[in-house]
Amino acid sequence: MVADRNVYDKLISELEKEAVTLVAVSKTKPIEDIASLYAYGQRDFGENYVQELTEKQPVLPGNIQWHFIGHLQSNKVKYIAPFVHLIHGIDSWKLLKEVNKQAARNNRVIPVLLQVHIATEETKFGFDEAELEEALSQSVSLEHIAIKGLMGMASFTDDLHQVEKEFGYLKSLYDDYVLSHAFSILSMGMSGDYKIAITHGSNMVRIGSLLFGSRNA
Ligand SMILES: *Cc1c(COP(=O)(O)O)cnc(C)c1O
Repeated sequence: MVADRNVYDKLISELEKEAVTLVAVSKTKPIEDIASLYAYGQRDFGENYVQELTEKQPVLPGNIQWHFIGHLQSNKVKYIAPFVHLIHGIDSWKLLKEVNKQAARNNRVIPVLLQVHIATEETKFGFDEAELEEALSQSVSLEHIAIKGLMGMASFTDDLHQVEKEFGYLKSLYDDYVLSHAFSILSMGMSGDYKIAITHGSNMVRIGSLLFGSRNA
């Protein structure tokens, strides 16, 4: 579904007031849908699947900033390393090392976020608090990545109190490292929970269905 101009404009003005960056999540959406949002002025787009991203990137305008927001397998990093703008879901030391290696091959420094496991679901990915500490302290040896901050996904639940607790927890971790590691990005919030995320300090939201309509419609 081509994004509705009014919905987009309203969302953008709401986010701009709070200085929050919008990543428009275009996974499973056709080129025309992305082009429509691009025409409204949107430049940051998020994709979850490497193959889908590498098919879309060459046929869309070169000044789109592509965010990889899904679970990334180490053996696929090489396909997105030449152009990816920000990788949100770094969830292991092995993956961080591989991004560093592929970034070096492309003579670039790739900006990344470390994903923290904040939800109750076991199926979601991310570092726990101790692993985060460990990854951050070891990362100084990796010269081709720049860790810009943290990313997290709250539990899929109607219990707003639970979601608030999880976002609050991620914000407290972000605050622990913001000065020592010069963090600038806290990526949390999707269509269903972005308002709560912003209340808890998010400055980057990843929004799909609110803009493009539901994915399995
Ligand atoms: C799909 C996805 C989103 C967007 O979800 P919506 O509910 O459609 O806004 C955000 N973040 C991640 C990591 C996703 O996989």
